[in-house]
Amino acid sequence: MSGYNPPLDDINFCIRHIADIDSILSLDAFDGMEVADLEQVLEEAGKFARDVIAPTNVIGDQKGVSIEGNTVHVPDEIADVHAQYVANGWQSVSGNPEYDGMGLPSTIGNAVSEMIQTGNLAYSLLPMLTSDAAIALEAHGSEELKQKYLAKLVTGEWAGTMLLTEPQAGSDLAAIKARAVRDGDRFRISGTKIYITWGDHELSENIIHFVLARIEGAPDGVRGISMFLVPKFMVDDNGEIGERNDVRATSLEHKLGIHASPTCVMSFGDNDGAIGYLVGEEGKGLATMFTMMNHARLGVGLQGLAVSERAFQLARAYAHDRVQGRVPGQDGRAPIVHHADVRRMLMLMRSQIEAMRAVAYTAAAQVDFAHHAADDGARAAAESRLSLLTPVVKGWCTEKSEEVTSLGIQIHGGMGYVEETGAAQHYRDARILPIYEGTNGIQAADLAGRKVLGDEGREIRKLVDELRKACTALRDDETLTAIADSVNGGLDQLEQGVDWLLENATTNPAAIGAASFNLLMLTGTVLGGAYLAKAAAAGVSDASGTDANFAREKVATTAFYCAHVLPRAHGYLAAMMADPAITMALPAEAFLD
Ligand SMILES: Cc1cc2nc3c(=O)[nH]c(=O)nc-3n(C[C@H](O)[C@H](O)[C@H](O)COP(=O)(O)OP(=O)(O)OC[C@H]3O[C@@H](n4cnc5c(N)ncnc54)[C@H](O)[C@@H]3O)c2cc1C
Repeated sequence: MSGYNPPLDDINFCIRHIADIDSILSLDAFDGMEVADLEQVLEEAGKFARDVIAPTNVIGDQKGVSIEGNTVHVPDEIADVHAQYVANGWQSVSGNPEYDGMGLPSTIGNAVSEMIQTGNLAYSLLPMLTSDAAIALEAHGSEELKQKYLAKLVTGEWAGTMLLTEPQAGSDLAAIKARAVRDGDRFRISGTKIYITWGDHELSENIIHFVLARIEGAPDGVRGISMFLVPKFMVDDNGEIGERNDVRATSLEHKLGIHASPTCVMSFGDNDGAIGYLVGEEGKGLATMFTMMNHARLGVGLQGLAVSERAFQLARAYAHDRVQGRVPGQDGRAPIVHHADVRRMLMLMRSQIEAMRAVAYTAAAQVDFAHHAADDGARAAAESRLSLLTPVVKGWCTEKSEEVTSLGIQIHGGMGYVEETGAAQHYRDARILPIYEGTNGIQAADLAGRKVLGDEGREIRKLVDELRKACTALRDDETLTAIADSVNGGLDQLEQGVDWLLENATTNPAAIGAASFNLLMLTGTVLGGAYLAKAAAAGVSDASGTDANFAREKVATTAFYCAHVLPRAHGYLAAMMADPAITMALPAEAFLD
C-alpha cells in the first residue's frame, strides 16, 4: 500500500478558485491551454506520486544513504524513482519550452511538486533544487552557459544544487570564505561547503553546482560575493561530458530525518581548483542566488504542506482502525475517530492543511503573473505580492508542519511514538523545514524588515484591504456570516500589528527582532483564514451537483479554523506588541550554567 491518496479535489479546487487558473490561462504564454487538460496532467502526476514515489518513503528512510571514498550511494528504490521521474518528463512540467520545458504554468508545476513531495519528502529535494537552479540560470546566466547547461537542468537529465553554507557562514552569508581565482575567462574555486543537499550521487550523469564564493581581492561582506556554476564533470563545446572537476563530497551528515537525502560536506579545489563560471555580475552573487533561494523558499513552504498531508492521511486511517472506549449513543467500543478530542485533532490537521494549500497556491499563481502578465504594472504588482508572501509560505507553512505532524503522532497514541506506523518519520522529516533555506527566524526578519517596513507597509495594507472587501461580500451569504466576522477580526489584528511595527521600529529598533516571529505567525494565521474563507465562498457559489459535498466540507473546515485556529491571532498580536525589554530582560550571562 502506498499510504498516499493525492487530494486532487482540493488541489484542483485551489487551482481554479484560489490561484484563478482562468486568469493565468488568459496570458499569452499559455495560449491554447485548457483547464481540463491541466487537470489531466495532475491526475497522472497524482498516480505517479501515489504508485511509484510514495511506496519508497519508508524504505528510503530505513536504508538511508552512505559514502564510500567520494562516492555517495542512495537506495536503489530512489534511483529507480528518479529515472522514471525524468523519463516521464515530470521535471520539465513548467520549464521554458525554449529549453525543452513543457511550458505549463508554474501553478501546475507547484501542484505536481506538492504531490511528489508528499510521496517522498527526502527524494523531492533533488528535483526541487534542480528546478530552482534552472530558474536561476535562465534569469542570470550568459547565453553560452544557458546553451550548454539549461536544457539538461530543465529536463532533469542533470541535477542542480545550491551551495551557500560554510562552517562559519550559516544565516550570516556575509562570512562566506570560499575563494574564486581568475583563470582566463573562468575561475578556479576552492573552499568547503557544508550541509549540501543532494551534493553528490550517481542518479544523474552530471551535477551542476551553484556556488557562492569570493573573487580574489573582492571586498569583505556581501558585496564581495559572486555566484559560480561549477559542474561535477566538465562539459565540452559539443555538450559531451568529460573529466571530473575538482569538487567532491567528503562526508555525509547523520540526521534526524530526510534520511534518503544525502546532506554532504563538499570540498572544492583539493588539487588545482574546481573550474567555475561566473553567473550574473561580479559582487552581486547574493542577489543572483536570491532568485534560486526565493523559489526554494516557496518549495520548502510547500514541503511543509506536503508532509502535513501525508501525516494527516495516515492519522485519519488509524483513527478509523483503532478501537478504544465508548461514545454516547453507540453500542460497543468505538473507533477513536468518534471521540470528540480525536476529531478536534483531525480537524486541526485538516483545516490547517487546507489553509496552507490556499496560501501556498495564492503565492504560486503570483509566479505566473510576475513572469507572464501582459503589462509592466501587472508584473510588478504580482512580484510585490509574491515577495510579501514568500516568507509567509516558507515560515508559516513549515511551522504548521511541526504542529500537524506532531498531531499525527498524538492521534496514534503510543503507536505514533514507535517507528512502525510511519507517523514518527513524518515528524522527524518535517523538523528540518523551519531550519533550512533560511531559518524561520530569518524569514520573520525578512517579513518584518524588508517586506513590511521596507515599503512602509504598503503591500501588506493593500492585501488586507483586498481581503477585507472580499470578506465583506461574504456576509451576504448566511452560511458564511460567522466566518466573515472571524476573518474580519483577524484582519483587524493583522492591521494593528503592522501599525504597531511601523510606529515602533524607528523609535525602538529592538522591537523588530523581538516582534518579528509573532508577526510572521500572525500574518500566516490570518491569511490562512482569509484564503480559506475565499475558498468556502467559492465552494458555496459553485455548490451544484458533485461539488455540493465538497463545498459543505470546505465550509465546515473553514468554520473550524475560524473557531480554533484564528483566535491564536490575538495571542500573536499581544506577544508582538509586548515591550521588547521583556524578551531581553535577562542578560546573556543568565543563560550560562
Ligand atoms: C539537512 C540540511 C540540508 C541543508 N541543505 C543546504 C543546501 O543544500 N545548501 C546550503 O547552502 N545550505 C544547506 N543547509 C544549511 C542551512 O540552510 C543552514 O543550516 C541554515 O541556513 C542555518 O544556518 P546555521 O545552521 O549555520 O544556523 P545559524 O545561522 O548558526 O543559526 C542558529 C540560530 O540562530 C538564529 N540566528 C542566526 N542569525 C540570526 C540573526 N541575524 N537574527 C536572528 N536570529 C538569528 C537562527 O535563526 C537559528 O535559530 C542545510 C542544512 C541542513 C541541516
